[in-house]
Amino acid sequence: MRVGFGYDSHRLAEGRRLVLGGVEIPFGKGCVAHSDGDALIHAICDALLGAAGLSDIGSHFPDTDNQYKNIDSKILLAKVVELLDQKGLKINNIDSTIVIEQPKMAPYHDAMIQTLAGVMCIAPGRLAIKAKTNEKLGFVGSGDGVVCFATCTLAELKTEN
Ligand code: MG
Repeated sequence: MRVGFGYDSHRLAEGRRLVLGGVEIPFGKGCVAHSDGDALIHAICDALLGAAGLSDIGSHFPDTDNQYKNIDSKILLAKVVELLDQKGLKINNIDSTIVIEQPKMAPYHDAMIQTLAGVMCIAPGRLAIKAKTNEKLGFVGSGDGVVCFATCTLAELKTEN
C-alpha cells in the first residue's frame, strides 16, 4: 500500500468560472489559473502522483504549455489515472477537503463524487469530499482564495514498482 498527499490553492477573482470537483458552480467569482483552476482535482492529482512516486502535476502538465490553457482538469485527472495503471497501481481510497468561505459546497457534493469517481473508474464509496469555511481567517476567509487538500492510498498490483 502507498500513501499520497496533495495540496492546491487558487486565487478567486470576478469574471472567472468556479469549477471544483469537476462541477461548475454558479458564483460571482472563479479560480484564476492556467487551466480551469479546479483546485480539488489538482490536489487529488498531486496526492495520486505523490503516492505513485511520479512527482507532481506541474511536472506532467506545465502551466507554460499552451496545450493546457483553460483545459478541463478532468482530462488531467484521467491522464494521471492512466499513469497509475501503467505502474500497476490501483486507487484504494481518496479523502479530500475543500476550504472555501463561499458559496456552500453541500449542494454540489454528490455531483462532485459521481463525476470524479467516474473519471477515476472507482466506486463512489472510495472517494470522500469534505468542505468547510476558514472561519473568515486569512485569504480564504476573506473570499480571495480557495484551498484544497487530498490524501490517498494506492494498492500495488505489481511488486516491482
Ligand atoms: Mg492548481
